Amino acid sequence: MNKKVVVLPGDGIGPEIIEEAVKVLRALVASGEFPVEFEYGHIGGAAIDRTGVPLPDETLDLARAADAILLGSIGGPKWDGLERQRRPETGLLQLRAALGAFANLRPAILYPQLLSASTLKPDIVSGLDLLIVRELTGGIYFGIPRGIRQIDDREREAFNTLVYRESEIVRICKVAFDIATQRHQHVCSVDKANVLEVSQLWREVAECVAQDYPTVRLTHMYIDNAAMQLVLAPKQFDVIVTSNLFGDILSDEAAMLTGSIGMLPSASLDGKGKGLYEPAHGSAPDIAGKQLANPLATILSAAMMMRYSLGLPELAERIETAVGHVLDRGLRTFDISSPGTQRVGTAEMGDAVLKAL
Ligand code: NAD
Repeated sequence: MNKKVVVLPGDGIGPEIIEEAVKVLRALVASGEFPVEFEYGHIGGAAIDRTGVPLPDETLDLARAADAILLGSIGGPKWDGLERQRRPETGLLQLRAALGAFANLRPAILYPQLLSASTLKPDIVSGLDLLIVRELTGGIYFGIPRGIRQIDDREREAFNTLVYRESEIVRICKVAFDIATQRHQHVCSVDKANVLEVSQLWREVAECVAQDYPTVRLTHMYIDNAAMQLVLAPKQFDVIVTSNLFGDILSDEAAMLTGSIGMLPSASLDGKGKGLYEPAHGSAPDIAGKQLANPLATILSAAMMMRYSLGLPELAERIETAVGHVLDRGLRTFDISSPGTQRVGTAEMGDAVLKAL
């Protein structure tokens, strides 16, 4: 039976970058190497404009029935004034939660061809290959109670709840350890255990999970130090496992090590094979519709989809190699361009990957 991939272009640059990734996937389908059916749905602002809600039931039904979901990006100033429940971001959070996509994998790999696009010195970042495993469906983004309340006639206060169950920590740590066994056997767990009880439990549980992985070395680091170490000596890391909020921040920081957030793919897995694949960046309203966006993060997300949800690791590698060839040829979107390289637009970059494939 054919696999089903649901495509959710979303907002801003989403439709432009998704088009390039789908172009690459369709070429593989056409060559008979990748038996898959595509279905399209709406999410975020695009869904709000059509249905009034950021995650319509029909999109959720499509996603639930699919083997994998490929998403562009959501959000933009047009919808910023809406109340939280109706905002585009809420649709994405709802989708991740509904799919139980609790493990967000964000690799930060510096392609040697992009060494000069990083703001860090070459010897600090050359050969960088780290993976951030971020817990995605728990923590402070979902904790209840949350809100803003009037405390007296002079002022209001706002509150969110940071809460993790042991079972949530166990399952995300297992994902990190499993992957570390395929990589360089090192997991660094990032927390704030000197201040937060949640982090103290996180640390305890990580130590427990580590018992089942005798070949993997577990270290711990406070989030403030991790943020510093990531720019000071990023190659010390192999797999970083951390909570939703800390992972959100660290993964954007890691993105810049690689030259541009436009290069960073991500996968959000449910632990049973289904995954939501999307670039780590947002909808970039400042460049939307201008054919300036770098589609490589989305194309590389499609490669992750092959690897983690569709059981086609060799096709994943072919896409990744094709991206390497395109960079070798000196083709660059504006975010990764440097003197001596050739500036191309979004579609030209997608075409080049297709040709290399
Ligand atoms: P952003 O990631 O959209 O943009 C940050 C900067 O990076 C901008 O200068 C943008 O032009 C650039 N950039 C992003 N992707 C790029 C690409 N592929 N190629 C070249 N340059 C790229 O973050 P933001 O500006 O903070 O947020 C804009 C909107 O995106 C907001 O509405 C936000 O809520 C939303 N957002 C969505 C997601 C998501 O869909 N998963 C994630 C983060 C932010």
